[in-house]
Amino acid sequence: MVGPGPDGVSWFEVPPDTGFGLDNLPYGIFSTPGTSPRTGVAVGDSVLDLDAATGNAIHATGSLNGFMAQGPAGWADLRAQVTEWLSDERHRARVEPHLVDRAAVTLHLPFEVADYVDFYSSKHHAENVGRIFRPDAEALTPNWRHLPIGYSGRAGTVRVSGTPVVRPCGQRRNNGAPTFGPSSRLDIEAEVGFVVGTPSDLGTTVPIGAFAEHVFGVCLVNDWSARDLQAWEYVPLGPFLGKSFLTSISPWVVPLAALEAARMAPPPRDVALLPHLRDHDQPWRLDLTLEVRLNGTLISSPPFAGQYWTAAQQLAHLTSNGAALRTGDLFASGTVSGPQRDQRGSLLELSWNGQEPLTLADGSTRGFLEDGDVVTITATAPGTGGGRISLGEVTGQVLPARS
Ligand code: CA
Repeated sequence: MVGPGPDGVSWFEVPPDTGFGLDNLPYGIFSTPGTSPRTGVAVGDSVLDLDAATGNAIHATGSLNGFMAQGPAGWADLRAQVTEWLSDERHRARVEPHLVDRAAVTLHLPFEVADYVDFYSSKHHAENVGRIFRPDAEALTPNWRHLPIGYSGRAGTVRVSGTPVVRPCGQRRNNGAPTFGPSSRLDIEAEVGFVVGTPSDLGTTVPIGAFAEHVFGVCLVNDWSARDLQAWEYVPLGPFLGKSFLTSISPWVVPLAALEAARMAPPPRDVALLPHLRDHDQPWRLDLTLEVRLNGTLISSPPFAGQYWTAAQQLAHLTSNGAALRTGDLFASGTVSGPQRDQRGSLLELSWNGQEPLTLADGSTRGFLEDGDVVTITATAPGTGGGRISLGEVTGQVLPARS
């Protein structure tokens, strides 16, 4: 029996409101001064050193990929083991020495990113962007309601939270001939990322019902975007250099098992879906609440439950042509925007392309990001323990362009 000790209380006391209780147990890669990066589990204000606690070399590699490749049985076994260790008093003497102060660790990129795909699955976001960029046309393109639109991004520039955001240079056009220089419309996109553990073979598909056999967990994503570069380059093949200079992810990967209480029935859809995207009996809509802060001011609270397409549909779509999955594949939701102004997940939408600047707590205003700005995205979800679990944060500070 896995669970609390005989008195029903875990020996490990989780401080209130950390969001990192025993119903969360996210995985990350950490180091302390003078030691190598290794796998840890965040719990309360601590990190449990899995390399030391398990003695398994798979947790000493500095990447979650080896563990993620084990698949659902291995994930469930370790989660049960860690839960028991932190609950049952009999394990206390052996486990306690392997707990490290979470405030004292350095967090690293949690996994080697194989392929990176970014979707476009919030209807509110897609409609807002359509109205801003194509005011004389239908807000949604004809395909939008029939498939989750996505593009392949640059895996090699996915970095961990805290990585500085050097303002990118590139080609853009205002009026007349294009020029090259620092982006003047640097933006954020608040997104949720899904991390593949179990690979799939080329030529096979991953139906919606097999989602949990392949997806290991969830992280937060900030898809930094240079709108001026993007607007000039994206026709007809989609985003390229306006996105690929940096994508930031949160350091803690929350396992799908921790999100059981966040699962909801899928939302109603506008049109009948083709068979491989039908999900009426597959509750993979997730009730996550995101918060976006700019220099400490809360500027948006995007509701992930409002997404039109679920991650299970995204994965089914992405493999529907037989494309293979690799351990470490990352696919992101696309900007999460709700129907209200204070639920929009990008500055493009929040400031309506700079026309309606935001006012921050210090009285300054923003259309897009200025050098020195710090953007932090956090999220919580209902946990199985009755409270809310945290997905941690993804943050970054804008640095001036390098000339
Ligand atoms: Ca995006």
